[in-house]
Amino acid sequence: MNTAYLSLGSNLGGRLEMLQDAVRMLQQQADLEVTRISSIYETDPVGYTDQAAFLNMVVEIKSKLSAKEILTICLETEQNLGRIREFRWGPRCIDLDILLYNNDNIESSKLTIPHPRMHERGFVLVPLLELVADSIHPVTGVPFWKYEEVQKEGVRVWKVIAGVDAFVHLEN
Ligand code: ADP
Ligand code: MG
Repeated sequence: MNTAYLSLGSNLGGRLEMLQDAVRMLQQQADLEVTRISSIYETDPVGYTDQAAFLNMVVEIKSKLSAKEILTICLETEQNLGRIREFRWGPRCIDLDILLYNNDNIESSKLTIPHPRMHERGFVLVPLLELVADSIHPVTGVPFWKYEEVQKEGVRVWKVIAGVDAFVHLEN
């Protein structure tokens, strides 16, 4: 069984519903279980800053599937939720990224794990640290909390959630 962490983000449309729908779609996949979720955070956009605030969260999944198969599920989930790729780092109704897959280091043209920008992004690190307080970046060997210390700005708790079931049934 493999453990992976996915980052989910939305800043267009019903942001919470987008995250809920994405988690529901993940749950419906055979051979994949959503085991834990972080709180929901509201975060200021980084990179291209002239856009609305995001809701972000991190989910833990357990699966027999390969990282490549999980990437396909992420991209299909984005498609199903109507993501239109306008431009990189621009507004999106939903983005699903694989942050970690076990402690593997994968570098292919379509997939890089650990996600290459994860340790620069407070909106990834802050929710991730809720789930993996003591983990170490598998490539750099630096504990994630050290990165998080300097990247917290613009990341605010938006909703604390009791668990996966509570989240998918949460009323807006
Ligand atoms: P970003 O998430 O960096 O803002 P996009 O979601 O538009 O940008 O980029 C998606 C592409 O990034 C995917 O088609 C995929 O092939 C590639 N990619 C590489 N590594 C990863 C990863 N760890 N998780 C998700 N997508 C990845
Ligand atoms: Mg992405």
